[in-house]
Amino acid sequence: MARSPNALNSSSSSTLIVGAGIAGLSLTLALLRQGRSVLLADRRPGAGAEGVGILLTGNAAQALAELGLGAAAAAAAERVAAVDYCDRDGQRLFELDLEARPGWGTFLCMHRHTLQQLLLAAVGTEHVRWGAKIVDLEEAPDDVMVRWDDGTTSRHALVVGADGVHSDLRRRLFGEVKTGLPGLAGWRFLARCPAGLQRPQYMLGNGCTLLLHPLPGGDLYCGAGPADTALLVGGEPLEQLRRVFGDFGGFAPAVLAQLSADTPLLDTTYHCVQIPSWRSRRCVLVGDAAHACPPTLSQGGAMALEDGLVLARHLATEPHVPTALAGFEEQRRPRVSQALSASLDRMFANRLASEHFIEVRNTILRAVGAEQLAAAWGPLMADEARR
Ligand SMILES: Cc1cc2nc3c(=O)[nH]c(=O)nc-3n(C[C@H](O)[C@H](O)[C@H](O)COP(=O)(O)OP(=O)(O)OC[C@H]3O[C@@H](n4cnc5c(N)ncnc54)[C@H](O)[C@@H]3O)c2cc1C
Repeated sequence: MARSPNALNSSSSSTLIVGAGIAGLSLTLALLRQGRSVLLADRRPGAGAEGVGILLTGNAAQALAELGLGAAAAAAAERVAAVDYCDRDGQRLFELDLEARPGWGTFLCMHRHTLQQLLLAAVGTEHVRWGAKIVDLEEAPDDVMVRWDDGTTSRHALVVGADGVHSDLRRRLFGEVKTGLPGLAGWRFLARCPAGLQRPQYMLGNGCTLLLHPLPGGDLYCGAGPADTALLVGGEPLEQLRRVFGDFGGFAPAVLAQLSADTPLLDTTYHCVQIPSWRSRRCVLVGDAAHACPPTLSQGGAMALEDGLVLARHLATEPHVPTALAGFEEQRRPRVSQALSASLDRMFANRLASEHFIEVRNTILRAVGAEQLAAAWGPLMADEARR
């Protein structure tokens, strides 16, 4: 009988990683570098990353460097020396000079598809199966049997769920989990960078934030949101976006003027995953599947990259898979919890409030905004914390 194009290697020594996003690719690369047999399966029919751009904070860029991709990433990204927080008129509330922070590493901003291409090229297409979905999974003491939607089966010493915030593997292991952060939404889109905008700018309105991130090639990654959903009523998305951000000043008019009915607007919803365990005996969750976090500190992708490196390290030093998984979770929990709770804290500042509250908020941000942001990012950038 002819093997289906998605027929999967059925060696019980292999690791199966489900999901070729940032976490799955990072782990695959780290394990391949150890000479391990890895199969990476994704339900998408082929490569293609969702999203527009991504800020890789110092810890994310450092993880890429540890994966051997430091120079390639730097060459394909905009280096981010500082970030500006502004009010809705475009008046600066504070700036944070990232390069003045010792040990923080280099912050980079790049197109999402570039990051995926970098990771995929390093992994090599022969290790990836696109269009592959699990329909059943049975865990035995020494391996895991996986049944695929094309009728084939495979056995693996370890199965890793890197299948994102709506993880199917998580549901199989632990049941349904609430992930949504209700009340906040928005859009992401690509524009051309207005002349004079040289570094990321976060424009804080009342219940709505406009994020502008210069990308390589004169592109601009725009995040219109988080916005309080109370503001997002009536009309088509483009109308809503123009209405909510229509009174923003600074670079906003030059960006909004580029929007048309043909501009792809990527709907954005926000999520948070907090579950008591990430693992069973021979299955483990990584990245958003285990601990999705809102993007206010740009830590989701960073944590996904780090997960891959740290899990690979535990598997390299501990041959007993359940023990290696326990070691991984024990090491990662405190750091991931810190990233998650600091990101959540900043998320709720995006709710609609009185104009008086916004004035007070802006006064506080002018005085201590930079130090508050540094205090949230600082522990996550510390080198020893991510090892
Ligand atoms: C608006 C927004 C902005 C963000 N900005 C940043 C930022 O600037 N910096 C940052 O570090 N992070 C950011 N993040 C977070 C970051 O995008 C995520 O944390 C990161 O993509 C998680 O990677 P992952 O590999 O765990 O999951 P994903 O990237 O979601 O990848 C999951 C993969 O699994 C596949 N899959 C899903 N289900 C199945 C299945 N059943 N079978 C097989 N395959 C499956 C999917 O096709 C996908 O390829 C942002 C998030 C949002 C929402």
